[in-house]
Amino acid sequence: MVWAAEGTSMTEHDRKVARVAQQLRARTCLHPLSLRKRAASHQVPKPRDLKYREDKLDVSDLDRILDIDVEGRTCTAEPGVTFVDLVAATMRHGLVPLVVPELKTITVGGAVSGCSIESMSFVYGGFHDTCLEYEVVTTDGEILVTTPDNEHRLVHEMVHGAFGTLGIITRLKFRLLPAARFVRLEYHHHSSLGAYQADIHERYARRDVDFMDGIIHGPEHYVLSLGRFVDQAPYTSTYNWMTAYYETTAERHEDYFRTPDYFFRYDRGVTNVRPRSKLGRLLVGRFLHSSQVLRIAEKIAWALPADRPGVTVDVFVPFSRFAEFMDWYWREFGVYPLWCVPYRPAKRYPWLSDEWYAGLKDELMVDLAIYGYRQPPGKNCYRMLEEKLMELNGVKTLISFNYYREDEFWRIWHRENYAAAKSITDPRNLLRDLFSKTCRATHGLE
Ligand SMILES: Cc1cc2nc3c(=O)[nH]c(=O)nc-3n(C[C@H](O)[C@H](O)[C@H](O)COP(=O)(O)OP(=O)(O)OC[C@H]3O[C@@H](n4cnc5c(N)ncnc54)[C@H](O)[C@@H]3O)c2cc1C
Repeated sequence: MVWAAEGTSMTEHDRKVARVAQQLRARTCLHPLSLRKRAASHQVPKPRDLKYREDKLDVSDLDRILDIDVEGRTCTAEPGVTFVDLVAATMRHGLVPLVVPELKTITVGGAVSGCSIESMSFVYGGFHDTCLEYEVVTTDGEILVTTPDNEHRLVHEMVHGAFGTLGIITRLKFRLLPAARFVRLEYHHHSSLGAYQADIHERYARRDVDFMDGIIHGPEHYVLSLGRFVDQAPYTSTYNWMTAYYETTAERHEDYFRTPDYFFRYDRGVTNVRPRSKLGRLLVGRFLHSSQVLRIAEKIAWALPADRPGVTVDVFVPFSRFAEFMDWYWREFGVYPLWCVPYRPAKRYPWLSDEWYAGLKDELMVDLAIYGYRQPPGKNCYRMLEEKLMELNGVKTLISFNYYREDEFWRIWHRENYAAAKSITDPRNLLRDLFSKTCRATHGLE
């Protein structure tokens, strides 16, 4: 990633975008197309995924920060900029993005297209909710500038969570906020879900912390991690070799981090740290970042088990149904730790259906990350989660294995809004539609 000097002309960017538009315009073949970017993809590798065989549109040079407006507290960047580079650049001005996903090499474009959240999401929602403007290239080669209020507002909202099926995002403008140099974390340990929920709700209502997430270490040990920006720290921690960050939350009551180290504290894996064993970590742990693990997994995806894949999935559960979900989860799955992130969608998302919203009473959700578990024989844990979430009005992220039937899928996702945005951004269906891409092509089905 190269950081363009602030205020330089966007000519080079415009040239790159013109190339992307021209390639799309010139494409006469109607076979599906997917993106080639520089950073590793944070999608769970799937052995039969058709994307490995698709033609590629190369957007790997779209990885520059174009502008940091210190006074206006905004940043304009190309989609391939990784959060680790972004935070390094904005911190020079004492600023950070409002939502910084926990893995260093998640990109800003991927964060919008694949729904990224983190410990400031209880205030600001997802990364998309902090975006003011996108430049989107349609597969007919048209260049749209979208905002939440202009004539392209439907496209603006629908590219969130569209997994690259509604055109190519080539530029994003998003908000920044002032940051201190350090973060102080305080851990609240609870022995019951009821007490945990009460603590989350109190913090949510009071907004008296900058960051909130947690680790569920078992049915009788729930940890809420509450962070505040601070100007000074008596010591600072980094967890990037022998100790996995999540493990420390089981014992500690307090910790201090440099702000970037706070953001990327889970970079070695959230609760699925690789290697798992201490010996493995001693030997190679220092050099094995999450993006290297993902790259290796992508390369050997063909050899991964297709019938009983490991479970790596995020589920979004309405806060009022949290206890009901956990009760079921302990009975049916019983595996932990889980990462828990309170999340308040900043607005009504037009990509979720009216039927889904009719069943929702809550303004707060919790994202529960179930990462890196083996499926027991005879169980399809992904499908079990889908069925439970349909009952509880939750949503499952589409980053891994999806078994929704098409009618079920479009009862959750908004078919009409999706079709309207599709007719503008990809009328020839070069990028597949959302259901086909995430629920069929990933299983090797056309
Ligand atoms: C193991 C694991 C851990 C994770 N941990 C976290 C976490 O801690 N916090 C969090 O918020 N999320 C996490 N995620 C989810 C992650 O945020 C999303 O998967 C996100 O989409 C990844 O972004 P990426 O940059 O890797 O994009 P990619 O994986 O490369 O792309 C995601 C989707 O977006 C599309 N896309 C990418 N760029 C563009 C573009 N320019 N225009 C249009 N479409 C585009 C791609 O086609 C693809 O369908 C995790 C995922 C995994 C697999």
